[in-house]
Amino acid sequence: MKKRHINIPIFIPHEGCPNNCVFCNQHTITQTSDGGSARDITKEIESCLATIDTDACECEIAFFGGSFTGIPREDMVRLLKTAYRYIEDGRVHSIRLSTRPDYIDEEILDILEKYGVRHIELGIQSMDDRVLTASGRGHTAETTRKSCALITERGFSLTGQMMVGLPCATPESEIATAEEICRMGADSARIYPTVVFYETELCNMAKRGEYNPLTNDEAAERCALVYRVFAKNGVKLLRIGLQSGEGLLSENIYGGANHSAVGELAIARFYFDEMCGICRNMIDRGEIKKGDRAVLTVFCAEGEASKVSGQKRVNKEKITELFDSFGIDIVSIKVKEQEKIEKNRVEITAEIIKKRGE
Ligand code: SF4
Repeated sequence: MKKRHINIPIFIPHEGCPNNCVFCNQHTITQTSDGGSARDITKEIESCLATIDTDACECEIAFFGGSFTGIPREDMVRLLKTAYRYIEDGRVHSIRLSTRPDYIDEEILDILEKYGVRHIELGIQSMDDRVLTASGRGHTAETTRKSCALITERGFSLTGQMMVGLPCATPESEIATAEEICRMGADSARIYPTVVFYETELCNMAKRGEYNPLTNDEAAERCALVYRVFAKNGVKLLRIGLQSGEGLLSENIYGGANHSAVGELAIARFYFDEMCGICRNMIDRGEIKKGDRAVLTVFCAEGEASKVSGQKRVNKEKITELFDSFGIDIVSIKVKEQEKIEKNRVEITAEIIKKRGE
């Protein structure tokens, strides 16, 4: 039987990071952590393991916080050695970490390999150099290409982390970034709509009128476009949006995608776009015509019905409005889960209950 996967998250802030990403407020994020990279993480791991049946679960120690391979080398190796002891005693299966593209080279990968790291999450953010420059990232898209090639050639699994709504970014540049992440061999992805934290350069830019923060609806729309790319390429989505522990408290936030369920909004938007495409095709093919009254049945994968319907059934309402604009009356929409339907797919049937002119 497949074991349940459980992450043991260890937040390692990158104190003294020399980079100046415009969206980053290291202080805000650091203050949510339990301490710096020099702390002893044994207690954190032990207290997590105490709540897990390690025979039934596959545990992974996950070093999150940004740039694990950029922290002082002795701290990095000490943390890895601590984590590796749990792999040796069989209670932990692997180690995951996140870092920047310019903090990857052969020597670092040698160290990661030695201590049982399997998964590397790379903060790619964008593959558009204009966006990277405007965001103060301090590396180019070419650096990311080389870094991804090194990671995948060495057999690590690669997660591409990208942002939407960065300065100079457009929906097109974000789609192109997602496409390149797929081509570079990522097997999974995280999408972060930009949040504008106080005490960041991005906040100053927004106050000066040089940057327009995304609304939550815009964030959902743009994340949905990017999500479509990952879904069509079989790249597993791990998350959309920051999670608690990443400074996502309302008092820290000036603007941007601050909805706590932005991921749900984005996936609902993705399903809405999918349904719209199918419904328009039904109309184009004449399967459903002006004056018709119909009952729609939407089939989706198991566990996806609420995402298809959207929060407060907003997608059902919007689909009804779409048909209404073509003079078609949708009496009701049923959403049914089916085992045979793949995740991220929908199929729609329309039962015409009154034809035009009847
Ligand atoms: S987001 Fe940028 S500035 Fe902030 S810790 Fe990471 S690399 Fe440093």
